[in-house]
Amino acid sequence: MTMTELRGVGIGLGVAQGPVARMAEPAPAPSDAPSALTAGEETARVTDAVTAVARELEERGAAAGGAAQEVLEAQAMMAEDPTLADEVNTRLAQGKTGEWAVFDAFASFRNQLSAMGGYLGERAADLDDVAQRVIARLRGVAAPGVPDPGYPFVLVAKDLAPADTALLDLDKVLALITTDGGPTSHTAILAREKSIVAIVGATGATGLREGEMVIVDAAAGVVTTEPTTEELDRAQNRAADRAAAASAPITDGALADGTPVPLLANLGNPEGAAEAVALGAEGVGLFRTEFLFLSSSQAPTIEQQRESYTKLLSAFPGKKVVVRVLDAGADKPLAFLNDAHEENPALGLRGIRALRASEDILREQLTALAEADAATEADLWVMAPMVATVEESRYFVDIARDYGIKTAGVMVEVPSSALLADRILADADFASIGTNDLTQYTLAADRLLGSVATFQDPWHPAVLRLIREVGEAGRINGKPVGICGEAAADPLLAVVLVGLGATSLSMAPTAIADVRATLLEHTIDQARAIADAALAADGAASARFAAQQAANR
Ligand code: PEP
Ligand code: MG
Repeated sequence: MTMTELRGVGIGLGVAQGPVARMAEPAPAPSDAPSALTAGEETARVTDAVTAVARELEERGAAAGGAAQEVLEAQAMMAEDPTLADEVNTRLAQGKTGEWAVFDAFASFRNQLSAMGGYLGERAADLDDVAQRVIARLRGVAAPGVPDPGYPFVLVAKDLAPADTALLDLDKVLALITTDGGPTSHTAILAREKSIVAIVGATGATGLREGEMVIVDAAAGVVTTEPTTEELDRAQNRAADRAAAASAPITDGALADGTPVPLLANLGNPEGAAEAVALGAEGVGLFRTEFLFLSSSQAPTIEQQRESYTKLLSAFPGKKVVVRVLDAGADKPLAFLNDAHEENPALGLRGIRALRASEDILREQLTALAEADAATEADLWVMAPMVATVEESRYFVDIARDYGIKTAGVMVEVPSSALLADRILADADFASIGTNDLTQYTLAADRLLGSVATFQDPWHPAVLRLIREVGEAGRINGKPVGICGEAAADPLLAVVLVGLGATSLSMAPTAIADVRATLLEHTIDQARAIADAALAADGAASARFAAQQAANR
């Protein structure tokens, strides 16, 4: 029998096993005793250390490429941020050591970032890493980093710095477990991009011993300690099945009876397009435009946006590309859109509500999209996030059509719009269900909050009923209903979603192979029967179990 199970948030669907190697704990905090050097000498030391760390981060970024490079370059900029330098110099002028000045100045900055919460809050760990690196250099010791026990291992850390994740040796690191960090932390983003089996936010992992054997099951978000031989065998078989799915020929998504189920990609920037095509994406089901906006203090110009959208659309000639207009607010706050303080930002001026309050931003985005559409061969669809009412849906569809957008639809992420999907789809051209938010709002559980993570499960029959409602509304109105939340990346749940009426599935490109393989095992009638079994359950775990039973019948 298994001794312990630790839970966290699984990234991707992989499973791996191996001995634990722990990341070294950060060095102790420096003391605030006065420096024996002059303030000028300390300033020179700190400047040298900061410059060296920034260059090293840039070099690591250049070696890693891709999203990692952007993250590391952003960290290098943090290291050399002039405001931070002023803060450090103020402390040096008071006679403190370079080590303490860096420690204290960075800590006060990180506390401000953490207090902002959401996406910015998760950048606080990046700042900590920069501070640790500068302090290590001032002390003349090695920067904290990934261990090398001499054999392949499961890496256990508090949270991984982007600099470490970027250069992980995938032949040695079998899986990753972090005690901190949420699904939108950089560790999670980079693990997803590199297809590393990972579980983040596994608070119980602090107790894992060096060298002990564990199974890391990302699909279930569970770390099994002291596994039995049967458990190890089962995990090995699952890993082998995944490897077989990954090497199976790339075909268009379909059920066993030939019913087509287009498999589309969720993308956050145009650079991801080539990899998505290589993994067999038949188009894009969700392009998240907020990543274009998040790094700037004001909205990008129409020209900048047009360039980015043109790049994206050009990668998919003749294919469907669904672009979502800006979804700002809640976990993705934007200073120029979400300035008012909100106690409950997820229930506040978010998504289409925020755009409506700053309609010029929406109009500029639609202008850029229409121009990119005219210049390319892709089949552009545009949708609005967080639509809660029929009236909001009409508002968006009308304004999109005014700009010449041919296919305008809405995301169903709020229970109210799922329940009234028949009215929404009488007018909108399509619906795309965002299961991440739909689950958050149905179960009243903040998707970023670890303490309520067990509620955030799209298998819950209440969520499935709402999806069935939308599927049925699509059928009656003859309109497509896609799924673009994480749920579509869970192979068995993907079958259930098709059984509930979804006509396409969109997911992280690395999940496509598994979903394709599983869809091919079931006919549409079987998919409906599996969905019925899940719907009849009382809770998420029993729905998953019932679906597994029905699928094996
Ligand atoms: C969703 O909510 O399921 C979704 C796809 O949108 P996001 O995750 O970007 O909020
Ligand atoms: Mg959403």
